[in-house]
Amino acid sequence: MKYRKMGNLDWEVSALGFGCMRLPTKTILDKSSNQSKQVVDREYAINMIRYGIDQGINYIDTAWTYHDGESELVVGDALKEGYREKVKLVTKLPTWLIKSEGDFDVFLKKQLEKLKTNYLDVYLLHSLGKDLFETVKKFNLVNKMEEARKKGLIKHIGFSFHDNLKVFKEIIDFYDWDVAQIQYNYFDPDYQAGVKGLKYAAGKGIAMIIMEPLWGGKLTQSFSEAEDIIKKAPIKRSLADWALQFLWNQPEVSVVLSGMGELWQVKENVESANNSSIRSLKKDDMKVISELRKAYSKYITIPCTNCEYCMPCPNSVDIPQNIRFLNDFIWFGEGERERFESIYGKFLKNKEELEELGGKGAGNASLCIECGECLEKCPQNIQIPEVLKKVDAILGKKRKISDFF
Ligand code: SF4
Ligand code: SF4
Repeated sequence: MKYRKMGNLDWEVSALGFGCMRLPTKTILDKSSNQSKQVVDREYAINMIRYGIDQGINYIDTAWTYHDGESELVVGDALKEGYREKVKLVTKLPTWLIKSEGDFDVFLKKQLEKLKTNYLDVYLLHSLGKDLFETVKKFNLVNKMEEARKKGLIKHIGFSFHDNLKVFKEIIDFYDWDVAQIQYNYFDPDYQAGVKGLKYAAGKGIAMIIMEPLWGGKLTQSFSEAEDIIKKAPIKRSLADWALQFLWNQPEVSVVLSGMGELWQVKENVESANNSSIRSLKKDDMKVISELRKAYSKYITIPCTNCEYCMPCPNSVDIPQNIRFLNDFIWFGEGERERFESIYGKFLKNKEELEELGGKGAGNASLCIECGECLEKCPQNIQIPEVLKKVDAILGKKRKISDFF
């Protein structure tokens, strides 16, 4: 395993981190409802996590919400028998569930119990964006983090992030964070915090954790054009390896998280990490990545570049986010409906929720009143109100993708 600098912290982190949000699952019969349901395949998951640690992975990332709360329990079991001492353990406070300062203590206590540990190496405020940053300030969550650190319950403080660069910089400048976790991959290096956010935060000595390196698996989906590109490449690499090496090539990246659900994925990713190093990609390698980016772009249904020129919408619709969710859902397909509806409902507010927030926040597609103000601002000439109607129908009203595309 290769190890990298963890920002200004005094320990080194494995290039590959184990993300525990997509652990292997199996179907069981729920006796109380007499219906089948998906649960984590514990034995397989524990074996996979331990295998990764045996190969040198020393960063284990989970969260209160992953697998409906089961991920933390499984990680707690995986880290028994001496494995806890071998890793830095990270979980996240579900910031959107915090309704008072005291909730912080309640969640942290429960999470430590679930993880069967006395302390967390890193505790992250989960999914910060404009709205949840307000929650952080309102309930003094950074002070609560510091109190927990003084008590020895957590060692390092950070946040994970989903919003634009402006909000990211605001949050970075708000506090002397140890760690920040952002979504970043070669497909869209300017999405959310993006490469600018990465460099900005890393420049302040903050350890940068990368999530969605394979864009939720999309960058490993094989199709003939992508296969042709990697066949002609100067070095033989898999689609996943190209995406991972793009990240490890950058000195600002500390650890790349991969949400692994099969043992073969752990084996492949460990091998990739073993072959990684900073500034190792040559001009020809970067050309391959650029060609792959172009090839995958053709599979994006709505050509939104996330430039945000259309923003703000007078009716609080977060136009690029809504389009992004639609594009992503079309790419993944109906099999992922439950997951996408949940993400859509969590990040984007409906009319009632927005009213509660005094009209501030990222609104969902149903709020569009078709005023047309955004239309002339879009450099891609996207018919935004028409697209938003489809977003609302598909993600808000359960219409099928095939009804529209
Ligand atoms: S058309 Fe819809 S999305 Fe565009 S500015 Fe008007 S309300 Fe906002
Ligand atoms: S202006 Fe157009 S391309 Fe830019 S974010 Fe808005 S919809 Fe997307």
